[in-house]
Amino acid sequence: MRGIVFDIDDTLYCRQDLLVKAAEDVLGVRIDDWREFIRIFYEKSDVNMAGLESGEVTTRETNGWRYEETFRIMGLPFKHGDGCIAADVYLELQSHMFLSENMKKALDAFASDPYTRLAILTAGESKHQWHKVDMLGLDKWFDRANIIVTGDTDFSKPDVRLCRMIEEQLGLKPDELWMIGDNYDKDITAALDAGWHSVWLNRRGLPEPERRADIEVFTDDELTDILISNRLR
Ligand SMILES: [Mg+2]
Repeated sequence: MRGIVFDIDDTLYCRQDLLVKAAEDVLGVRIDDWREFIRIFYEKSDVNMAGLESGEVTTRETNGWRYEETFRIMGLPFKHGDGCIAADVYLELQSHMFLSENMKKALDAFASDPYTRLAILTAGESKHQWHKVDMLGLDKWFDRANIIVTGDTDFSKPDVRLCRMIEEQLGLKPDELWMIGDNYDKDITAALDAGWHSVWLNRRGLPEPERRADIEVFTDDELTDILISNRLR
């Protein structure tokens, strides 16, 4: 028996493209260095994740602030308030988010395998993350009881207690579990601390860390290849 645990954002679907597109729409410019844009935007996410999870600030406020910080640092032309408008556009774009055909294929195969249990561990505000579960139609493959949103718990990624919750929920031991995630400091660190296997989707080509994931891939296609070729054992 094995358990495969997915992060949602930028793992099950590609969120980066939507974030950059929303900014381009609002500012009316093209952002050529999108990698740098995403790097700064994500760096800012760590600053107020705790407030988001506790419900002190909303996803809209947080994203608006992150956008304006990123605009400022990158020297992009903006006026105060554009960040929240971009956050609204991003939310609208999210209603069109989808799983790739290859990801669906991989999930179909896992869901029909009697020796595989699927789960999700996602960070953020409860309502916002559950909305994504619905938008992406994840119910088709994931039992809702096996979906953990950190905003519904007292813990934040990479707290190993989140991994223990999943082990208990799935009835599996640490070495039977795989974490699939794009964020090294959150997803992969949690897996390493918990004694799980892991696949790191290193979208931004960050340098190799000291403690390595079992498998490292760089693109969505590489990730779905790994999932479909059944190398997780
Ligand atoms: Mg992610």
